[in-house]
Amino acid sequence: MSQYDYDLFVIGAGSGGVRASRLVAMTGARVGVAEEHRVGGTCVIRGCVPKKFMVYASDFSHQFKTAQGYGWTVPEPSFDWKQFITAKDVEIARLSGIYASNLAKAGAELVHARAKLVDAHTVELVGKNRTVTADKILIAVGGRPWMPQDLPGIEHAITSEEAFHLPELPKRILIAGGGYIAVEFAGIFAGLGVETTLVYRGPNLLRGFDDDVRAHLAEELKKRGIRVILGTQHERIEKTETGLVNVLDDGIRCESDVVLFATGRRPYVGDLGLDKAGVELTPEGAIKVDELSRTTVENIWAIGDVTDRMNLTPVAIREAVAFAETAFKNNPCHFDYVDVPTAVFSQPPVGVVGLSEAEARRLYGKVDVYLTRFRPMKYAFIGGDERVLMKLVVEPQSDRVVGAHIVGPDAPEMIQMAAIAVKAGVTKRQWDSTCALHPTVAEEIVTMREKFVPPDLLQAAE
Ligand code: NDP
Repeated sequence: MSQYDYDLFVIGAGSGGVRASRLVAMTGARVGVAEEHRVGGTCVIRGCVPKKFMVYASDFSHQFKTAQGYGWTVPEPSFDWKQFITAKDVEIARLSGIYASNLAKAGAELVHARAKLVDAHTVELVGKNRTVTADKILIAVGGRPWMPQDLPGIEHAITSEEAFHLPELPKRILIAGGGYIAVEFAGIFAGLGVETTLVYRGPNLLRGFDDDVRAHLAEELKKRGIRVILGTQHERIEKTETGLVNVLDDGIRCESDVVLFATGRRPYVGDLGLDKAGVELTPEGAIKVDELSRTTVENIWAIGDVTDRMNLTPVAIREAVAFAETAFKNNPCHFDYVDVPTAVFSQPPVGVVGLSEAEARRLYGKVDVYLTRFRPMKYAFIGGDERVLMKLVVEPQSDRVVGAHIVGPDAPEMIQMAAIAVKAGVTKRQWDSTCALHPTVAEEIVTMREKFVPPDLLQAAE
């Protein structure tokens, strides 16, 4: 019999923590898991899942307009925010319950408490007057939104977490940031009829994405009525009688009812007792781990956003699987972070797998690019101006498709499929040998035959 209460104690019951707890408990090991909030973590409770419901809700306004073009008589639609939020919360509670019952079915013991390390094998369950010991400990506490606390008036701003529970739908919103959360919420609120302004400090949204994707998305967002202000910093936020005013560094004053800062997330490492156990942080404040997700303490491991490697739910889940294999099944392995597909659920959405053109050029020097922009038939029919962007980046020596990028309806669904091919390392020739499926938007991805030459280069050659 082990000298410890548990073989594994997991801190945090989000996507990564729950998966690891279940897999390890199913080996017959004694597993405890502590969660201070609801089971499900960021993704289920205040992230991907409620966000996607909001995207669905918001997108109906676009569908109503499209329906009119197809001959439907659509009475003036109205949206009931409170009804939606209630229904969303009911569904989130149901999903959280499923996560909790899956833990129980696997034989893991759930403790509703905040957990803190006392030493390398001991965890305090705050408010429970209880400490537990474990042979191995897994930290999977995720991240928290971050805002620039030194910005005057920042106390008037909310983060994405409060956006899920606004008492009422604002008439005007200002969103700060140019990353995933900022563009996703800009689309959500604009679709729900809120006058939406997006303010970002950089030259274009979604830094790190392919430049053609970034430029295309910014144009499409403007077509959806979002006011996009680029290259601008916030100087202060003022509360006035009529609302909140963001004063920007170029003198622009933007008035809104709600200011949402989506300026990144940070690992949630505060008050975890890491120093007591000797767990070290990276200079950026994430838990330092090796390739196998082991921290600087031999029996303590960490996965997911708290390690700030690739902050995506499916990645945390795969890190959890690798942890269970390594630490409990004598099969050391790690997740392969190459060619992980990602989507931004903006409106229209973005789907990406592999390298951007710039990354590929840095890596390979020369690359071939295939690019198309077109009006999808669904919207061309109603005279709409919405355009899809598709782009393939090919490494010419091997002819391998090293990057695929789509902006347009159903882009995330398409990219999930394209990711199989990119991950498998198929060549452009193999890609092109796939027969088109007509009529679809997706067929364009297998019919791009001409290498793309940017218009400015074409002009220079003429
Ligand atoms: P991101 O890191 O994607 O974006 C943060 C944004 O805030 C950037 O545009 C950044 O600008 C800007 N910013 C940072 N600091 C400041 C500042 N002081 N003043 C003004 N702007 C600032 O973070 P998000 O919060 O959008 O999302 C967090 C993470 O969550 C993402 O990285 C992603 O991994 C994950 N996520 C994934 C989703 C998905 O898969 N669909 C959806 C939502 C989140 P700059 O670029 O110049 O640094």
